[in-house]
Amino acid sequence: MNSRSYNTRKRILVTGGAGFIGSHVCARLLKRGADVLCVDNFFTGSRDNISPLLGDPHFELLRHDITFPLYVETDEIYNLACPASPIHYQFDPVQTTKTSVIGAINMLGLAKRTRAQILQASTSEVYGDPEIHPQPETYCGKVNVTGPRACYDEGKRCAETLFFDYHRQHRVRIKVARIFNTYGPGMHPRDGRVVSSFIMQALRNEAITIYGEGHQSRSFCYVDDLVEGLTRLMDTDESTTGPVNIGNPAELTIRQLAEKIIELTGSRSKLSFHPLPQDDPEQRQPDISLARSLLDWSPRTELEDGLLKTIAYFEDFLRQSTGR
Ligand code: NAD
Ligand code: UDP
Ligand code: UDP
Repeated sequence: MNSRSYNTRKRILVTGGAGFIGSHVCARLLKRGADVLCVDNFFTGSRDNISPLLGDPHFELLRHDITFPLYVETDEIYNLACPASPIHYQFDPVQTTKTSVIGAINMLGLAKRTRAQILQASTSEVYGDPEIHPQPETYCGKVNVTGPRACYDEGKRCAETLFFDYHRQHRVRIKVARIFNTYGPGMHPRDGRVVSSFIMQALRNEAITIYGEGHQSRSFCYVDDLVEGLTRLMDTDESTTGPVNIGNPAELTIRQLAEKIIELTGSRSKLSFHPLPQDDPEQRQPDISLARSLLDWSPRTELEDGLLKTIAYFEDFLRQSTGR
């Protein structure tokens, strides 16, 4: 039974809510007047990310691993739980696939029982190392099934399949967002992702570690823009399922990113070149025509503005950690 109770506030479950994107989603939903239940096993997330929310009576935190069943009452689910940076998702690849696949089954089972609407945080990694540029949602991708990134890519692909099968078979109301590289305050300082790594290195005047020659490209979306896109997708009517690309089409090479970060931090860092990891995608840029037409959404934050806010966050982080 879906015990709606006397409370008229929307009850929203955010899995992975103590992570980078999840903590921003929780904060945004609380601002919009929801009761938020954050579920996280703290594999890569932390209490620090959500500490500003802990005093809010409409915020609840539950330590739980979504590969195990979860029985709660809810109206909406944002399924974000999954390590997202290559070093984290390759640390325990079997658990990564379990989180994506068994976690999706549990959250879809929960959505089916409570009749909640559920949004999946899918990824541009479903396109693998793409042969089509930019990538539209219709592109089926090129993923190496047996490579080191497959635990994440194939896990997320299977999760999408499960979402569409629960939708077709059980009429579960689904939304699938394919998220492209996202950055901003709250990123893990040691997650090995390019934006966090380069900023930390630049602030400490350490060598900037470029993998390969730095000719590979990415397109970076500021987290506030991403969260706006996710909530707009959740707010669409039942017939809108996605998948919908959400990202910033402004593309640049990794070398250009390094140079931009050195310039913005005024760092004395030099570039250092290291082997390119296996299966590292050569180029990535979202085609966001669908998000523009369906959600009337496009990113608003210029890379330079977003990077300055992120740099300020890491400066603060370094100040606090040296002051401890
Ligand atoms: P993150 O690692 O900061 O957050 C993931 C959160 O999930 C963490 O708090 C972690 O502790 C939690 N978690 C992991 N496994 C869990 C489990 N089994 N049970 C409960 N909690 C678990 O990563 P993020 O960047 O915030 O990514 C959030 C979501 O967005 C992920 O699903 C990721 O795949 C997706 N995504 C992110 C990006 C990006 O650029 N950040 C790009 C594409 C997709
Ligand atoms: N599940 C859950 N919470 C719920 C309902 C289901 O965690 O509120 C889990 C449960 O472990 C189940 C899975 O979701 O195995 C899939 O549920 P579904 O109803 O699709 O399958 P079934 O219960 O028939 O296996
Ligand atoms: N990268 C790099 N140096 C680093 C970290 C990453 O050159 O210290 C490169 C990485 O090889 C990739 C790009 O930056 O080509 C983005 O890496 P990230 O791990 O942030 O995201 P993803 O590869 O999942 O898009």
